[in-house]
Amino acid sequence: MLGLGHDRILMYHGTPAADAAALERQLRLVRLAFPVVPLEDIASGRNKNGRARVALTFDDGLRNNVGVAYPILRKLGLTATFFVCPGLIDRACWLWNHEARERLKTLSAPALAELAASVGGPAEVETFIDWMKTLKIAARRRVEETIRAATRGFKPSREQHEQFDLAGWDELARLDPHVVAIGSHTMSHPILTSLSAEETETETRDSRQTLEERLDRAVTIFCYPNGDLNESALASARRYYRSAVTVERGTVNGNADPHLLPRYAANPQRTRRLVRRMVLG
Ligand SMILES: [Zn+2]
Repeated sequence: MLGLGHDRILMYHGTPAADAAALERQLRLVRLAFPVVPLEDIASGRNKNGRARVALTFDDGLRNNVGVAYPILRKLGLTATFFVCPGLIDRACWLWNHEARERLKTLSAPALAELAASVGGPAEVETFIDWMKTLKIAARRRVEETIRAATRGFKPSREQHEQFDLAGWDELARLDPHVVAIGSHTMSHPILTSLSAEETETETRDSRQTLEERLDRAVTIFCYPNGDLNESALASARRYYRSAVTVERGTVNGNADPHLLPRYAANPQRTRRLVRRMVLG
């Protein structure tokens, strides 16, 4: 089923300067093939006239989305949604999985094996991160502390700062609302399925409130961290947002649940793969 008339949502993450030219090329191609519209239009089915449309999203509120993607969006006259975690901004920290991964990569194999054995996790970086995503939040935070203790000398390089630093409040406040809508990505990017229903409610509700207060604009769209959700995450998203996006791949058809909108993962360097996925569904 090609779903030629169905809308599509693209999901980007980091956009380091090295990807700027590729990103611009890719967005020019997308713009040639589809009208690029605000995500809100696709979520609400607004202004639909039978022709397939595309909405752009950028997850995690990274500084390079503001510094690199935003000028390209302006230049091309495009609009996008940035999903931001307000609880991380004041603490000027990285997403927990980015920090854990970069720290673990600095360990020698024996040191990684020792750390993994001490917490009962697998002794390979990516599987370790995946394992951390399955832990209850308190247990995960303990593992984060263990990793920090084992990597006290860790000092991010310039490249790592460029890749993983989050945008500050002042940078987000300067984004033209006609170009970038701000969506919520929870307060602190926890895996919602690792939380109690109350914790999920707090992450979901407070992130909207904080973003609206600090940026003085409406926040109506939510993005589940890692795409992981359960009944309570879905219920909280329905309570506080008009719509929500997942990481399931697919087109948005007329019957789509507005709080379970699928997306296509997009990588600026992999245009051919993106085209194939978007066409074949
Ligand atoms: Zn995310």
